[in-house]
Amino acid sequence: MNWLDIPTAYALVGLLYLVMPLMAWVVLAAGRSRSTHMWLGGGVLFGIALLMVAARAHVPAWVSYPLANGLIALALQIKILALRQELGLAPVPRWLWLAPMLFVAVFEFIRLGLGWAELRFVLSMAVYASLFAAIARLSWQFGRQENSRSGYALMAVHALGATVLLLRGVAVVAGVSEPDAVVRGLDGVATALVGLFASVLGTVGFLGVYLDRARRNELDNAAKRARHEESTRLMNQIAHLDRRRSMSEMSSSMAHELNQPLAAILTNTQMARHMLQQHAQAPAGLGSLLRDIEKDTQRASRVLKSIRGFVKPGEERRERVCLQRVADEVLDIVRDEARQAGIRLECALGSEAIELMGDSVQLSQVLLNLLRNALQAMVPHAGGRIRLTLVREDGRAVFRVQDQGHGISLENRPRIGTAFFSTKPDGMGLGLSISRAIVEQHGGRLALLDAPGGGAIAEFVLPVQTGQTGPGGQTAAA
Ligand code: ADP
Repeated sequence: MNWLDIPTAYALVGLLYLVMPLMAWVVLAAGRSRSTHMWLGGGVLFGIALLMVAARAHVPAWVSYPLANGLIALALQIKILALRQELGLAPVPRWLWLAPMLFVAVFEFIRLGLGWAELRFVLSMAVYASLFAAIARLSWQFGRQENSRSGYALMAVHALGATVLLLRGVAVVAGVSEPDAVVRGLDGVATALVGLFASVLGTVGFLGVYLDRARRNELDNAAKRARHEESTRLMNQIAHLDRRRSMSEMSSSMAHELNQPLAAILTNTQMARHMLQQHAQAPAGLGSLLRDIEKDTQRASRVLKSIRGFVKPGEERRERVCLQRVADEVLDIVRDEARQAGIRLECALGSEAIELMGDSVQLSQVLLNLLRNALQAMVPHAGGRIRLTLVREDGRAVFRVQDQGHGISLENRPRIGTAFFSTKPDGMGLGLSISRAIVEQHGGRLALLDAPGGGAIAEFVLPVQTGQTGPGGQTAAA
């Protein structure tokens, strides 16, 4: 086997052991962990030790033997610890760090004290082989635990190393080989080749192990994040449902409780009007006052009925609704509020009546809510105006309520329209979300936009399924 000079081969393998970890450090750059530092550091120590073996002819024996042996044992021990860490095993006792020194002491005693070359050689082969075997066992454990091919490759190369080292020890005991690490011949070549495999595959294999683990962690984290997002979403949904349920319960019981007094007011008003008709001397205006009370009571009870219908799904009311009439009714209600606040109310409802199938009470609730929001957004007695328009655009009816109020701040914009969000001290924050739900139940959509020149425009669009009938449109200042 003269084609391969064994010390040179050891030097080459030693250099490889030095270069491979350095390259791996560069490749890993951002992803270095404690265990990779340990494994690659172990590789560097192993490389230095092999260079020491290769240079034995040029370095005094008292330096080369203890240093090479100590570094090899330490390097393999560090690699074992790196794998244990990767596997999440418990840390080893501190005194184990003394083991390499103990090995060096016993080796030196045999070498210098006993001068027994075979024994020291067999001892070192046995120690190295068992450390290689320990690495192989941990790699196998990793391969199985993480289903990692890199783990199995690492196991194979270290098991091969352990076998070759063991065979070399056996060969020396059997007297067929010399007790010299850099011996010429098949055994020397085999050791050098295994060293070569171990240096390349050891580094690449460990990188694989590390990357397999990193990929697994990434997947675990992604799964954890997905679970967390899902549970947050569910919690939000549950909270939302809970609020809807309490809202529904509250509205139902309110509607139930108010129904009776409203019915009593209505009966009494009707009776009072009847009695009034029998007395010619009744004060002027009392009759129309009672008529107004009657009208408002009937309206209030329709609103209550509609709230109950809205919170109880499935009870949808659909009738032919004239949108101009809805607007007129609502304007009747808010006109006084606007006058008291010194705000001008203008409306342009178009010249032709727009009709659709829907719930007139619910639609007037929407319009009332938007007009009240507009009034509340404006400073009273500051000379502002609110403009209500109704137009037909592309087969759809579009209501717009434009005010000159404080508008929508950037900060509140994302939350406006979500249930229970309000910037008013006594606001419930339900008006817009209920209005939006009503409009969507009618197949339309509602939006709150910035008005050019300041203020806001609340706009809702409804599909018009039926053709327009009869007159009734108007353009007026209310
Ligand atoms: P609430 O009137 O009880 O506050 P809403 O759901 O009707 O509940 O309105 C939610 C919030 O949207 C209001 O508190 C207000 O901040 C904002 N908002 C609604 N309409 C307007 C408007 N025309 N101009 C400016 N902000 C508005």
